[in-house]
Amino acid sequence: MAEYNVSLGMEEKIGQVKEEIRRACEKTGRKEEDVTLIAVSKTKPVSMLEEAYRLGCRHFGENKVQELVDKYGQMPSDVKWHMIGHLQRNKVKYIVDKVFLIHSVDSLRLAEEISKEAGKKGVTVHILVEVNLAGEETKFGTTREEAIRLIREISILPSVRVEGLMTIAPYVENPEKNRQYFADLYQLSVDITNENIDNISMDILSMGMTGDYGVAVEEGATYIRVGTGIFGERHF
Ligand SMILES: *Cc1c(COP(=O)(O)O)cnc(C)c1O
Repeated sequence: MAEYNVSLGMEEKIGQVKEEIRRACEKTGRKEEDVTLIAVSKTKPVSMLEEAYRLGCRHFGENKVQELVDKYGQMPSDVKWHMIGHLQRNKVKYIVDKVFLIHSVDSLRLAEEISKEAGKKGVTVHILVEVNLAGEETKFGTTREEAIRLIREISILPSVRVEGLMTIAPYVENPEKNRQYFADLYQLSVDITNENIDNISMDILSMGMTGDYGVAVEEGATYIRVGTGIFGERHF
């Protein structure tokens, strides 16, 4: 992994991330265009999102509904917004017609609420099922075992569509420690594909953050979520 360097400007930081994606793809025979970089802009001011936009970023990730809605109103309309944080059911209605993808669905009740609110607005919302592979109690997400059952249940809802899986790996100094979790998420997506469930897809694997996205790409990530590596440290 390239060392993260705080003295770099945003253009150089994005360049480093792209270079690391390119390296990981080359190493594993993947195509760079199959990996989408999500700029995780939570807590950062709109001026920084605008800079990232000028540098070519079109996918932005937020973890709070209010912040996503505020920034949505201030950024160009071709931005694709990703809800990556825990989502409360009573807030679903504010974002169903604004998000490109919700990464953090981990219960049938939440998926039902999304489908209901999406139906009212006449849209279909694309979602990922969040899987907590490390079994960390502080994290949201279903277990590996629950995921297949949950996806079967969601697959019959009219206005949501499962497009794949997401995981948040533990924070580690050495990204190699997370390789097995990323390999496990990939394998789970293969297992679910083999279940031939109607009306779902396993095309998206959202895994890898600033500390470990290179390893995640090597293990099959199609979306990586990078905050610190683009915008610098978050102070709150
Ligand atoms: C904050 C966050 C990220 C980005 O984390 P960095 O380590 O700053 O890259 C990625 N995914 C989720 C779900 C997050 O909440």
